[in-house]
Amino acid sequence: MSVSGKLSTLRLPPLPTLGEIIKLYNLRAEKHLSQNFLLDLRLTDKIVRKAGDLKNAYVCEVGPGPGGITRSLINADVEELLVVEKDTRFIPGLKMLNEASNGKVRIVHGDILTYRMDRAFPNHLKKKWEDDPPNIHIIGNLPFNVSTPLIIKWLENIANRDGPFTYGRTQMTLTFQKEVAERMTASTGGRQRSRLSIMCQYLCNVKNCFTIPGSAFVPKPEVDVGVVHFTPLIKPQIEQPFKLVEKVVQNIFQFRGKYCHHGVANLFPEEQRLKLTEKILMLADVDPTKRPRELTISHFRNLCNVYRQLCDEDPNLFTYNFREELRLKKLHRVTHEAS
Ligand code: SAM
Repeated sequence: MSVSGKLSTLRLPPLPTLGEIIKLYNLRAEKHLSQNFLLDLRLTDKIVRKAGDLKNAYVCEVGPGPGGITRSLINADVEELLVVEKDTRFIPGLKMLNEASNGKVRIVHGDILTYRMDRAFPNHLKKKWEDDPPNIHIIGNLPFNVSTPLIIKWLENIANRDGPFTYGRTQMTLTFQKEVAERMTASTGGRQRSRLSIMCQYLCNVKNCFTIPGSAFVPKPEVDVGVVHFTPLIKPQIEQPFKLVEKVVQNIFQFRGKYCHHGVANLFPEEQRLKLTEKILMLADVDPTKRPRELTISHFRNLCNVYRQLCDEDPNLFTYNFREELRLKKLHRVTHEAS
């Protein structure tokens, strides 16, 4: 594997290679933080190219670590590069990149899960939702235990047009475990079709750009990695609150291999279950014997729309939680048996 920083650092002045930076600052990857570094600058250049033309763009890189993707971003001639890094050990190396790029890198030592991205960029960059996306991009190779909750949070931000999407339809290019990337982009009927496919695709145009073999990372993770590009849709394919869509989709995929009516039924309390399950499936025009992975986004749209009507008729319905009911029943049984 190439551990060279020289190949593509055409615009940056001569710098220590990433390998040298790692030695210089003793940046051993912390296994408990799932740190796996990309040191091959041809690969980091390829990730950055998938984000589109970044000349004069404002970019937020999440989790820059030793700075491989950061170097590629600087070489792509971005206007400003905001980096958000949790681990202090990487800050001196990032400061070096800032100096080498004449102050283009704004370094934030912080946690991307709590960082206020709605205030991160100049106001003049804001675009209307219906316009082309703003010249703002989010890019990152984060640990998988951070990237999945983060994308769920950002999907909710897209639905509410807040957080990074205060600026309009901000595009994102992020890495995920290969199987997660496949789930995000899986089409109807596909083996990997899941909750994540619906949640991503109802809000975004999602593209699985390419796969990076685990062997390209240092240290090598157990899995391969998928690079996924997201562009928020002007009009979401389901026009209901995010939490409602999430609840419907989660319940339906709870029994992946069974007919979809099993999952649908869990949306309703026991005493109304049979009647309301029949009603929602009939009004949404969904065949109860379809498997969850066979349902299209338009099936989910119909189900969410009818579920919304039912919740409007009975406001207690939305707070009903099947899993919570099971938990309480179990607790009741245990206390009963103990007494
Ligand atoms: N981007 C670098 C690369 O490709 O070589 C590093 C990748 S490493 C998988 C993930 C990086 O994200 C690490 O530098 C880690 O410290 C940072 N990180 C992890 N959790 C974070 C969080 N919640 N907020 C910001 N950075 C985080």
